[in-house]
Amino acid sequence: MTSKPDHYGGAGPATAAPARPDPVIRIADLTKTYDTGATKVPALRGVSFEIQPGEMVAIVGQSGSGKSTLMNILGCLEVPTTGDYWLDSEYVADLSDGALARIRNAKIGFVFQSYNLLPRLNALEQVKLPLIYRRTRRRSDLAQAALVRVGLADRMHHTPNRLSGGQQQRVAIARALVTEPEIILADEPTGNLDSSMSSEIMDVITRLNSEQGMTIVLVTHEPDIAARCQRVITLHDGQIASDVVSETREC
Ligand code: ADP
Ligand code: MG
Repeated sequence: MTSKPDHYGGAGPATAAPARPDPVIRIADLTKTYDTGATKVPALRGVSFEIQPGEMVAIVGQSGSGKSTLMNILGCLEVPTTGDYWLDSEYVADLSDGALARIRNAKIGFVFQSYNLLPRLNALEQVKLPLIYRRTRRRSDLAQAALVRVGLADRMHHTPNRLSGGQQQRVAIARALVTEPEIILADEPTGNLDSSMSSEIMDVITRLNSEQGMTIVLVTHEPDIAARCQRVITLHDGQIASDVVSETREC
């Protein structure tokens, strides 16, 4: 156990400044070293940043720069070797696997490059799955609403083999959204799609952010995808090479 606080921030001294919302994500000096026996691979070497509610952030960098490792830690799939991580103000850097799974289920929606849909289930059934695990009520209503949010109202009863790649990825996004997570993490969400379908998926993701205020972090190696995010963090050899917020974005 460490003596890290469960929460940070607090009221502080009374000032006239408007209260800034707590960040959804705050990481400080994160490192991750994979020990493969013969060698130690330093995948992350001291990464720090905050992500505020409603931000849309791209993480870019060459292959091997640590993007997926960072996403896996942000998504509570792995713990860092050293460093601090607060997710939604809760200290999560040193939790057990069971506690991480609980946080992950409650707060994170994942979208992967390879959709990860089950071949026999139709779109509605795929999106209902995380609600079944949670024993949520009104599952069909919530799943239908999520499919409407990604523009798939007319494809609810299609199985994946009757959907295009872009449509399959939209089902995966609906499945990530349906539990109302604090944040959506997407690792190369357009990596398997041609440019017109990539653009379609980015339209959906951008709308979730700009119209519905979803906080989104996505990994991409495509500059035109990164250009659609208002903030771009570039990793190089496991460190932040740049962290740029633009006034406008191309969307
Ligand atoms: P990216 O997603 O930017 O391509 P990764 O985070 O996958 O980078 O990998 C960063 C570094 O960590 C690479 O050198 C990679 O080989 C290494 N690495 C990633 N995962 C593991 C693992 N499970 N075991 C050992 N080394 C790993
Ligand atoms: Mg990767």
